[in-house]
Amino acid sequence: MRIDKATVRRAIAVLGIVMLLAAMLVPAIALARAGGGHVGGSSGGSSGGSSGGGSSFGGSSGSLLGGSSSSSGSSGGSCCASGVIVVVILVVVVIWIIISMRKRSGGGGGGVTFVPPVTGQMPPGDPFGEIKTGDPNFNTEMFYGRVNEMFIAIQYAWMNRNLEPVRRFLSDQQFSVLNNSVQTDYVAKGQINKLDNIHITHMEPVEVVKQGDYDSVKMLISANVIDYTVDERTGQLVNPGELGDGKTPTSFQESWTFMRKSGVQSKMDATITKCPNCGAPVTDGNYVKCAYCGVQMNDPTLDWVLMRIEQV
Ligand SMILES: [Zn+2]
Repeated sequence: MRIDKATVRRAIAVLGIVMLLAAMLVPAIALARAGGGHVGGSSGGSSGGSSGGGSSFGGSSGSLLGGSSSSSGSSGGSCCASGVIVVVILVVVVIWIIISMRKRSGGGGGGVTFVPPVTGQMPPGDPFGEIKTGDPNFNTEMFYGRVNEMFIAIQYAWMNRNLEPVRRFLSDQQFSVLNNSVQTDYVAKGQINKLDNIHITHMEPVEVVKQGDYDSVKMLISANVIDYTVDERTGQLVNPGELGDGKTPTSFQESWTFMRKSGVQSKMDATITKCPNCGAPVTDGNYVKCAYCGVQMNDPTLDWVLMRIEQV
């Protein structure tokens, strides 16, 4: 059995509370005896005993008080004896609480379900090894470059309050999330969220898994930005105390999840400004369907699609 420091701290805290309770109870019992009345109802006593934790406190103190009221009819002189009984009961209660806490803290490990922290599933060795097996053209640096290209494009679209230009690589669902946010938080209020000098300082894959016929890659992105909000008409800062003063850089982290059908071959000249199918330039007003070959471009059977953006 191991006793961790937290258990010891809890035990000391419980001991302190029980001592305090004892100090309060002894005069209370004496008072009950002197007044001849009863202290404490039976309501707490009967329900508290069986369950653990805080309610056991109510149970034990309730029964103590109940006991004192039943002995209220006896004559004086048993004051010290009943005081000793109270102390003995309290000591038993403390020992019982410590034992039950040790069981709950999982010292022996039996019956306690350990939930591991949520971490990304990473294959051993090169995290992109399996992807490269199916797609020999896949290049880690090129993929990072693509992520950076998407990152900058999304931040500009966000600042311009027009997410249409990034639909080429954004899932429909994530597009809706960002677009709704821009419309309600900025367009409707006549405000613009400025993101000056935004740049990625670090990125790394934190989860590379296969989901059915698709490869899923979650990238953790760390970035710096001067983030502030201005009124669209006056250009004045809006609530600089909370929304940024326009001068102070801050850092933030997001995780971006990409999906692409396993075995799709990377194109060496691929970019978010070209159709993933025919390579024609993505033009204004044709951000979803290619104006030349007609495919829907944010299709993970053709190219990497940014499925989800999560704040970290
Ligand atoms: Zn095309």
